Amino acid sequence: MAFALVRDGSGTSQVTLKKGTTDPALFALLGDLPRESVVEVEGTVQRSAKAQRGVELLPSRVEVLARAEVPLPLGVVDKVGADLDTRFNHRVIDLRKPAVRSVFELRTVLLHGFRNAFLARGFLEIETPKLLRQGVEGGATLFGVDYFDTRAYLAQSPQLYKQMLLSSGFERVFEIAPAFRAEPSDTVRHLTEFTSLDLEIAYPDGAEGLRTVLEEVLAEALRTTRAELTARGNPLADGVPEVATPFPRIPFATASEWVGRPGGEEDFGPDDERAIGERVDRELHAPFYFLIDYPTAVKAGTFYAQRQDANPAATWYCDLDFRGLEIASGGLREHRIDRLRANIASAGLDADRFPGYLEAFRFGMPPHGGFGLGIDRLVQMLAGLSNIREARLFPRDRYRLDP
Ligand code: ATP
Ligand code: MG
Repeated sequence: MAFALVRDGSGTSQVTLKKGTTDPALFALLGDLPRESVVEVEGTVQRSAKAQRGVELLPSRVEVLARAEVPLPLGVVDKVGADLDTRFNHRVIDLRKPAVRSVFELRTVLLHGFRNAFLARGFLEIETPKLLRQGVEGGATLFGVDYFDTRAYLAQSPQLYKQMLLSSGFERVFEIAPAFRAEPSDTVRHLTEFTSLDLEIAYPDGAEGLRTVLEEVLAEALRTTRAELTARGNPLADGVPEVATPFPRIPFATASEWVGRPGGEEDFGPDDERAIGERVDRELHAPFYFLIDYPTAVKAGTFYAQRQDANPAATWYCDLDFRGLEIASGGLREHRIDRLRANIASAGLDADRFPGYLEAFRFGMPPHGGFGLGIDRLVQMLAGLSNIREARLFPRDRYRLDP
C-alpha cells in the first residue's frame, strides 16, 4: 500500500494505492512526483476509519496538472518552523499552510462582519483618493511620488475626505482601504502599508454617542465573525472574544497615574499601553477599552481634533485599545471654521494648504466625529500573531518591497 495526501482549499484528503488493485503505473507516477505538485485524481471514494477525513480515494486515473520543482524553498507540511523572513520571501508557499490560510479566512469574515454592521446602521461605503497633493499631518511619515511634472503623496489616512463628505450630507460613512506611512521604525505593530477602517458620522450624540457607535459596530462584527468561523471549523474562532458593551472608559489622567506619571501630558508608549492593558484585564476583565479625554498637548498636531469648550486643555479624542495595543483613534472633530483655522495655525500649519478641505466648512458643516481603526492590528490580536506582518498577505515595511 501507499498513500498520497492531496490538499485543496477544503482540507487534506487521502489517496490510497493498493497493490494488486491499483494500476501499477499510478504507483510509479505518484511515487516519483515531487511534493506540492498539482494533480487531478479520479477514483472511488470509500469510508475509512483511519483516514483523516473518514474517507479515502482509490484512484483509477491521476493527471499531473503542474509538477513542482525540487527542493521546496519552504516546507508546507513539515513541523519545523521557518523564520519570518524566509516565510515572507516565499510567501506563496507559506500561505499554503492551513494555519496561515486560516488567518485570511478570519480576515475575510471580519471585514464582511464590519461591512454588514455598517450597512445595517445606514452607512455609505466610500472610497477616497490615495494620491494627494498634501499630507494631513507633518511630512515625517509621508511617501512622495512623482506625479507627472509635480509631486504627490500617498494618503496616510482618509481623514480630510471623510470629513468633507459629511458636509455633502452623507452623514454616516465608512471606508476600508490602504493607508501608507513611511514608518522608519521596525516594530511588530507598524507597517508602511496597512488597511485602515475609517468611520465618520454627523450629529453624534457627543463623544459618548460616537464611542457607542464604534463599540456597537465592533462588538457586532466580532460576534458574527466568531459564529461564522465556528461554522466553518476555523480553529481561530475561539480566539475571537465575546465582548460586552459598553467597554470601560478610562480617562487619560487615570491611565497616566497608573503608569506612574500623575498629571502627565505625554502620550503612552508601547510599554505604557501594555501595563494599562494588564491592569484593565486584572481589574475590569475587559479586552477592549477606551482611553478618553486626551490632553490638547498630546493632540497639538491633530488640528481637526475638537477641544472641550469647558476645558480647552483636553480634547474629545480617545483611543480604543485591545489588550494593551492601540487599535483605533478618534473623537469629535472641530466643525466650526474659526476654531479650525486657529487650530491649524497653532499646529504650525498654513490653512491655505487645504483649500478643498476648508471649503467643506465654509458652507455648512454639521458637527461630526469618527475613528480610524487598524485592521491589521485587530487581525494580529484576534489571530494571536506575534507580528503584524503575519496579518497581511504580502507585508510592506521599511525593508520589504518583495514579493
Ligand atoms: P501608533 O501611535 O501606535 O504608531 P498612531 O496613533 O500613529 O499609532 P493613528 O494615526 O491614530 O495611529 O491611526 C489609527 C490606527 O491605525 C491606529 O490606532 C493603528 O491601529 C493603525 N495604524 C496606524 N499606523 C499604523 C502602521 N504604521 N501600521 C499598522 N497600523 C497602523
Ligand atoms: Mg492613534
